[in-house]
Amino acid sequence: MMEKSLQNGLFDNVVRTNPTTLQINLGYKCNQSCSHCHVDAGPNREEMMSMDILKMIPDVIDKYNIEILDLTGGAPELHPKFRYLVEQTKGFEIDILDRCNLTILNEPGQEDLAQFLAKHEIIIIASLPCYEAENVNTQRGHGVFESSIKALKSLNKLGYGLKDTNLLLHLVYNPQGPNLPPPQKALENEYKYQLKKQYDIHFNTLYTLANMPIKRFADRLKRENKFDSYHQLLVDSFNPLNLDNLMCRNTISVDWQGFLFDCDFNQQLGLGMPGQIKHINDLLSSYKQFKGEKISFNKHCLGCTAGSGSSCCGSLS
Ligand code: SF4
Ligand code: SF4
Repeated sequence: MMEKSLQNGLFDNVVRTNPTTLQINLGYKCNQSCSHCHVDAGPNREEMMSMDILKMIPDVIDKYNIEILDLTGGAPELHPKFRYLVEQTKGFEIDILDRCNLTILNEPGQEDLAQFLAKHEIIIIASLPCYEAENVNTQRGHGVFESSIKALKSLNKLGYGLKDTNLLLHLVYNPQGPNLPPPQKALENEYKYQLKKQYDIHFNTLYTLANMPIKRFADRLKRENKFDSYHQLLVDSFNPLNLDNLMCRNTISVDWQGFLFDCDFNQQLGLGMPGQIKHINDLLSSYKQFKGEKISFNKHCLGCTAGSGSSCCGSLS
């Protein structure tokens, strides 16, 4: 049925606009090894962006009038030049997003990380897939919930997530298993109520994301014999209203070696951009036109179009 849907051309009219978001994957090293991780990140991964590639990022931002720099990984803060990159790009007056797993703030050597992020008004997007300890620790590892709460409290203390500050703290929810996320606003209200009541924690917005049936989450679904039924759920929940807002329309995703993709998911699947633009070098050799360019859609894309839709910044409709 899925193949039939793609053959029916559901995505055929979806093309790129000019890019506004540059998403940089700085490497796969992470202090956690979450069960749903779509990049297979972990403490033993050694892939890291080289300085040669990293130094091109400010020029790309400048040349393409990028509005959002989205730093991801692994744990992006573990890249030894993470802070250098922030300092080199902040002057463009763009939004800089740090996809922070929270527990990194409690790691040895990262004691001043929260202050650094606050000083540069970096927008923190932090995973917290539940307000209950057991659910978080099952998905993200033993003790992760407690460490996340400690990190959130220290961020609140600096002004993150509070009214009347410029320090934005957004949380990210993804389902524990093979289900679609519930409606984003209702869940945000519940998160706000529970985190305030139980821990006196505040945040700005909750982003609900669907789990992509790729990499570690796909392996788990296959082990549990649930891959086909989850796939069917995504097919049955296809919502055309999400097509205009797909994040791949205005995002350039760069992997740790400088290769370009339409999104982080395609990056993990090795599905490069369909046109001639393949590497960050290509962006600088001459000005490239993205408007109207095709996107590398495939089966997993139904994870972005199911129900209310899904993107790195939450639901789409
Ligand atoms: S914290 Fe993020 S990058 Fe690290 S293992 Fe978990 S999901 Fe993957
Ligand atoms: S997974 Fe597919 S639909 Fe989703 S952002 Fe990537 S290319 Fe677009």
